[in-house]
Formats: sequence, C-alpha cells, structure tokens
Amino acid sequence: MHMNKLEHVFVRTIPDVLDEKNLYISLDYNTAVHSCACGCGEEVVTPLSKKDWKLIYDGESVSLSPSIGNWSYPCRSHYWIKENTVKWAESWSEEKVRSVRAEENSKTNKSKGFFSILKRIFK
Ligand SMILES: [Zn+2]
Repeated sequence: MHMNKLEHVFVRTIPDVLDEKNLYISLDYNTAVHSCACGCGEEVVTPLSKKDWKLIYDGESVSLSPSIGNWSYPCRSHYWIKENTVKWAESWSEEKVRSVRAEENSKTNKSKGFFSILKRIFK
C-alpha cells in the first residue's frame, strides 16, 4: 500500500524489522532508514551527509532532500519526504533510467555513484 505519511522515530540503531509507517533516524550513524513508501517492503537507506541526503527536523516533523528514487528496486518508486508527508513523483521509464545511467557511465569519474546524478537532477 502506498504510504502518504511517515512517522519519524529517532533511534540509536536501526531495528532489524522496519515498521512501514516509520522513518528511522540514527544520529549516531548519520543515517535514515525507512521501508519503501510504496509498500513493497524494500529497505531504503539514506545516508545523511553533505554529499548524500539532508535531514531537516523542525521539532515536529522531518523532511529529506533530495528526493528518494528507488530505481534499483522493482517498484521504481520516486517520492519526496516533506514534513513527514510522502509526496509522490512520477516514476521514470526504463529508457530514462538507462539514459541517465549511460550518462553517468560516460563520466570520467566512475567512482561516483548512480545516486549522485539523481541528486543533481532533483535538487
Ligand atoms: Zn517500493
């Protein structure tokens, strides 16, 4: 089931079994983890750092930027998490993902991950 709301939970360590309505945040590990909001059950790990995701906590809710693009999962879901709300974006076609991957591969810096290009696009 598509989730439209997530509840942020600050934890020390990420639990083995994720509750799909929770967004787990570990400040010790600078990582946020949630179960894919489409309900497919895939675990989505978003490292928090200058070059990965930014977490905004306003005392009541959290936002993550850039968007979450689960291109490597069968569901290919794509959404933003803004103030605990899941905002669904269009999912990319196979063709679009392939062309972005090709562009990424043609870069000289091959060590850059696939997500770096997604971040550039959705910033
Ligand atoms: Zn999913």
